[in-house]
Amino acid sequence: MQEIMNYVDGQMVPGTSGRFTENSNPATGEPASRVPLASKEEMDAIIEKAAAAQVKWAATNPQRRARVMMKFGDLINQHMDELAELVSREHGKTLPDARGDVQRGLEVVEVCMGAPHMLKGEYMNDGGPGIDLYSMRQPLGVVAGITPFNFPAMIPLWKIAPAIVSGNAMILKPSERCPSTSLRLAELLKEAGLPDGVLQVVNGDKEAVDAILDNETIQAVGFVGSTPIAQYIYGRAATNGKRAQCFGGAKNHMIIMPDADLDKAADALVGAGFGAAGERCMAISVAVPVGKETADALRERLIPRIEALKVGPYTSEEDVDYGPVITAQAKDRINGLITSGVEQGADLVTDGRGFSLQGYENGHFIGPTYFDNVTTDMDIYKEEIFGPVLSQVRMDTYEDALNLIIDNDYGNGTAIYTADGDTARDFANKVNVGMVGINFPIPVPLSYFTFGGWKKSAFGDLNQYGPDALRFYTKTKTVTARWFSGIKEGGEFAFKAMD
Ligand code: NAD
Repeated sequence: MQEIMNYVDGQMVPGTSGRFTENSNPATGEPASRVPLASKEEMDAIIEKAAAAQVKWAATNPQRRARVMMKFGDLINQHMDELAELVSREHGKTLPDARGDVQRGLEVVEVCMGAPHMLKGEYMNDGGPGIDLYSMRQPLGVVAGITPFNFPAMIPLWKIAPAIVSGNAMILKPSERCPSTSLRLAELLKEAGLPDGVLQVVNGDKEAVDAILDNETIQAVGFVGSTPIAQYIYGRAATNGKRAQCFGGAKNHMIIMPDADLDKAADALVGAGFGAAGERCMAISVAVPVGKETADALRERLIPRIEALKVGPYTSEEDVDYGPVITAQAKDRINGLITSGVEQGADLVTDGRGFSLQGYENGHFIGPTYFDNVTTDMDIYKEEIFGPVLSQVRMDTYEDALNLIIDNDYGNGTAIYTADGDTARDFANKVNVGMVGINFPIPVPLSYFTFGGWKKSAFGDLNQYGPDALRFYTKTKTVTARWFSGIKEGGEFAFKAMD
């Protein structure tokens, strides 16, 4: 059983609270690691150490901070296989998928190499007679990142890189289910030249998170996880006067129009629905074919593709399409939801319950599950399942399909498959969802755009990564300056418009 450490002031140190959580290997179910859970006192002390380190880091010029990102990017590339292996070992996703997890985080580091350009303020010469105005972006101080289990490399990197390149210190509280990649990234950042204390990785659960939310030194909280926790953290952070952006869960729909290339749509649905065992906030979990003919033809194409999927451990010699879900509890919850779908009248086309793999009987595997004729009153439609379960909701018209998505509580991602540009354009304009794919199933924007959902998929302002992230992690100060030498008149006492 591996003992997981915290990373404090540039060193791996054991937790001091005496509280721990245990993780099992998702593929075998065997005990794998013991993770310390920080107490409030421990967290408060670590935050103070970060505050001390932040002062000097903020005074380091932006180009030098960006150079740390350049070296960090190099190191991530050099250690790509090792990082992917760490992700797969704790999370269970396949190695190619884990490499994608690291790569999409690395791309945010790459954009942060150009941060000085984005950190520049604005300047207005002669905004009034002899008056110049300029704004500057200053770091907030100590900020926190709280991240989920499902992207152990990508999401911590989305938090760490923009926060520290902007001159802040960061307390990263990774998921207690998958902490090892964050800890290794912290070591690589030190090797890249980051001063000790600027990034502290502290493991914990609700107690550690509440300590962050109540600590007066913490200026901002960037959270990613499930919707109820996102909403809770947003509320408590805001009450305590902190800046907060909290990204939550999802229920992503894909409309398939009668004119779509159905083979391509079916391929996309299988990848986006079952990849990473459906444990992606941008997974497509609802297929919405328009018209009976489209629905029947799609179903016909999906069945053989789903039956051909290979489920197994990332260590398998064979090519595996997806691995286990994260915990035994997650497996039970997902299997329970599948049972509820049957009981509530959905048509279970392929059943992943009872899936078993020789040699991995205690692993958290679930076979690919496909429901047809799902309706909006069923739990499998209302809940974010976060497992390898695809629901098909049949709609008669494009308008009905669009309204289904508009009426859904979540608004993270969505997609449409069609051959008609006018329909696609109408969909992109009208849908109330943050990220839209047109003949593209998982529209995670590239790192120089920004990432964020709408409705109950995000609380707070500004998106993750790209220019928004640098805005989130800095405060704007605007200076109005006048130099008196050369001014002949005396003082002015009226508060007046500039003329
Ligand atoms: P989670 O909400 O259980 O945990 C996320 C983080 O919150 C973890 O660090 C965890 O320790 C902490 N946490 C858990 N319970 C808490 C509590 N009661 N009080 C304070 N902190 C608490 O989420 P998860 O299971 O790790 O991740 C899966 C969820 O994340 C899914 O809902 C998925 O859609 C969502 N997600 C969203 C995005 C996005 O960008 N919108 C990206 C990835 C994942």
